[in-house]
Amino acid sequence: MSKVVILLGPPGAGKGTQASRLSAALGLPHVSTGDLFRENRAKGTPLGKKAQEFMDQGMLVPDELVLDMLFDRVGRPDCARGYLLDGFPRTLPQAEALAKRLSPSTSVCALNLSVRDAALLDRITGRRTCPSCGNVHHVKNAPPKVEGQCDRCGTALVQRPDDTEAVFRERLAVYRKQTQPLEGYYRARGLLQDVPGDDAPDRVFEALQKLSTAPACEGARA
Ligand code: AMP
Repeated sequence: MSKVVILLGPPGAGKGTQASRLSAALGLPHVSTGDLFRENRAKGTPLGKKAQEFMDQGMLVPDELVLDMLFDRVGRPDCARGYLLDGFPRTLPQAEALAKRLSPSTSVCALNLSVRDAALLDRITGRRTCPSCGNVHHVKNAPPKVEGQCDRCGTALVQRPDDTEAVFRERLAVYRKQTQPLEGYYRARGLLQDVPGDDAPDRVFEALQKLSTAPACEGARA
């Protein structure tokens, strides 16, 4: 039986950071559609170029571009036992397309991180990302040992073009309108668990790990 864990939450809720840790703890690959788009952009693929204009304005990439890319990724052998989704689904049609694709024996668990708006803004605008290994630092909350350099691989850290305040506000508005309805979608199916995301990262991780291995998360169907 395979297992799909979905991390939901607004931009800056800590999905990426928590997903890397949770993926290692659960032994399931971390599949981030944002990372897949950024990889495509870095390689200059036609998909990456199409996605760029939407991403840089804080808008969602159209569903058809997301779905092909995502289903291609989760169709690879490493995802046969399941996977951890970060940043997908972000719209109701994406959630419906995922549900249609999963076999009835797959258990699905959606973990919803909630964080106050003011904290989200601070986390996003202070975030610095490693363009090489994807490691994430924060200028105040998780500064690198050497200023401006990734602790993991030493590459110069960058601010993502969509991590500025103006683009963050647009991303938050898009989240409220298009992605937040997914809470209702998964709650109605008995698949949603709420996790307060304001706590220290280690406490949030413990809560996520506990919930994702709890019986309520096993055997639940999409
Ligand atoms: P993230 O790294 O998850 O914050 O994603 C960065 C950007 O990639 C988003 O603001 C969107 O423009 C795009 N993106 C990532 N995942 C999706 C998705 N599931 N649907 C539509 N757009 C997405």
